[in-house]
Amino acid sequence: MGRMKALMEAIAGARRPAFFTGAGVSTLCGIPDFRGPDGVYRDPDAARMFEIDLFDDDPSFFYRHADALVYGGGSIEPGPVHRALVALQRAGMCAGVVTQNIDGLHERAGSSPVFAVHGSPAIHHCRSCGDAKTFDEIVAMRGGVPGAVPRCRICGGVYKPDITFFGEALPEDAFRGAAALCAEADLVVVLGSSLVVQPAASLPLATLRAGGRLAIVNRGETPLDRFAFFRGDDLAAFAEAAEALAAR
Ligand SMILES: [Zn+2]
Repeated sequence: MGRMKALMEAIAGARRPAFFTGAGVSTLCGIPDFRGPDGVYRDPDAARMFEIDLFDDDPSFFYRHADALVYGGGSIEPGPVHRALVALQRAGMCAGVVTQNIDGLHERAGSSPVFAVHGSPAIHHCRSCGDAKTFDEIVAMRGGVPGAVPRCRICGGVYKPDITFFGEALPEDAFRGAAALCAEADLVVVLGSSLVVQPAASLPLATLRAGGRLAIVNRGETPLDRFAFFRGDDLAAFAEAAEALAAR
């Protein structure tokens, strides 16, 4: 954990530290590594789960594949990095979280604000009448039945998570919020992202442009490595050190 000390001192000393997370923080929870609507999922069948036309034709296709990635019968729980960011927030050392992930785990762990730049299943909307339901309400409606499609009691329409599917625009509010958070941060810490899926991956540049500092903890290279004052690869060690910092 010795190397993490420099990063922890930077977080403790920052006025507005922000955190930017990617797939690596969710694989720690047993969620397969996938990059959502902008990326490539190894199973070509599953890659189609984020096609909006297919969802409207056959929503059960999405809900069958989404059980392992998002719903897990309600059994997918936040992991060490999600919990560590909540601990930092309670200690006044996290101004907000930007995430590329679509599993909703930062929200469920209790982080706030969370800017989910590829959308989030925290809220679902009826495709027909726009009625909104929370993640927990949808899990309850589906009753743990694999592939079950949650239907609107008002109009009979189908609920779709507010995850950004192929063919849909990125969520503007989340993007604007993320850009503002990064621009106002004097430190942005990238956790478990290779920073290759654009335009989200360029958000940490807003911190650098405004004169802030960049730290990266990711297994594997990123295009922004040369701009980082701290470069690590062990997310579990980060989580452990951050918990200790928050409790200090
Ligand atoms: Zn409806």
